[in-house]
Amino acid sequence: MKGLRPPGRLFAAFVFLVAACRPAGDGVIALAGATLIDGSGREPVKDALILVKGGHIEAVARVNEINVPRGAREISLIGKTVIPGLIDAHAHIERWAVERYVAWGVTTVRDLGAMTTDSAIALRNDCNLGSVLGPRVFTAGAMIDGVPPTYPTATGVATGSDARRAVDQRAVVGADLLKIYTKITPPLLAPLMDEAATLRLPVAAHLGKTDAVTAAKAGVASLEHMAGVVQAAALNPAPYLSAHDRFLAGWTLEESGWASLDSTTVARVARALVATHVAVVPTLVLHEMLARLDNPTLLLRPGMEDVPTSAASVRDVAGLLQRTRWRAPEFQAFRRARPRQDQFVREFKRAGGLIAAGSDAANQLLVPGLSLHEEIGLLVAAGFTPLEAITAATRKGAQLLHADSLGLLGAGKVADLVVLDGDPLRGILATRRIAWVMLRGRLIQPDSLRKTWAK
Ligand SMILES: [Zn+2]
Repeated sequence: MKGLRPPGRLFAAFVFLVAACRPAGDGVIALAGATLIDGSGREPVKDALILVKGGHIEAVARVNEINVPRGAREISLIGKTVIPGLIDAHAHIERWAVERYVAWGVTTVRDLGAMTTDSAIALRNDCNLGSVLGPRVFTAGAMIDGVPPTYPTATGVATGSDARRAVDQRAVVGADLLKIYTKITPPLLAPLMDEAATLRLPVAAHLGKTDAVTAAKAGVASLEHMAGVVQAAALNPAPYLSAHDRFLAGWTLEESGWASLDSTTVARVARALVATHVAVVPTLVLHEMLARLDNPTLLLRPGMEDVPTSAASVRDVAGLLQRTRWRAPEFQAFRRARPRQDQFVREFKRAGGLIAAGSDAANQLLVPGLSLHEEIGLLVAAGFTPLEAITAATRKGAQLLHADSLGLLGAGKVADLVVLDGDPLRGILATRRIAWVMLRGRLIQPDSLRKTWAK
């Protein structure tokens, strides 16, 4: 073995020389000259320089503050705005939709259950391992509901031990969180939360038979669609709680119920919820679509062309109207509810609560990707500044997911970002003017991606 040493040393010296000759910027992408909105909520930085390598951000500075390493691929972004990859905090992913999210700059989704747990986990793994092009996925697996469950894929639980078992089943296959649904009552919630705490699984709650303050005090991580707030605010919550024995009856009464709340009560409930540290994913876009479901032009709005004709979940408005029997009086009530919902979101934010942007796509009229931009616009209409609305769709979503390396553009974070042709702080519609998207350090042009599914 000793005889091999001199050639070994020579070889090592050769490798060292080659390494020394290779430019330090090999494999580095330098994005130079854009206005940077970094996701933290800080004011934008002009003339930003972002160095990306191996799927991560190496450095963020101003142009000329640090050198672009020799050999780096430099891309001029003068006149453009860079924001972090968007996070949809409330999605029901379907396989056809994953590329659509990417094309719209959504690089992470929090999937709250539509499929079976196994198929949701399989799709998450396909996206996260890169075997299909899609966003990073955090999934709850199938929903946990009371009995009978609202959806056939959900797990219906009748007793405390059923509830614990449903939590265990999701933990064992690697769900990232849990989603509870409208028929979960306080007696079922207590053992469910206990088991979830043992297994360290956060709980996202679409409430019905439990009011929001009770669920928040029990430790749920997030209130989805602001469900349960009407029950917490109403003088007499009993009719709402019992209406939720049947999904559609509960939904209709609760959605209309917002209109009967007074502003003082809404503010009080918002502050009580902030005190529990629960997060809210308001999905204003869902409420807005419900209030306008009788408007057939929404099926033809720009962006709907991204939805395949076979995607019944988005397109089947007629079927939903048939099931719900909603008519003009219901739509009028839903429209009267909207200002109260907006007020709740404002009060919750003002009191320091965490609001994350979510779309509820791919439900009726809610387009994967596009509808998160619609949510951002509705947050602005409700009283958020454009910067706050972008933060709700980036850093706040990451905080909800406990994902420190997402939702923020800084050294060491993942290289998920969106390059915009306009300035969203001057007009929030600019978040939809996407020049290109970077996912895990890889450049993707939305138009090229669209060509692959147009075939
Ligand atoms: Zn949902």
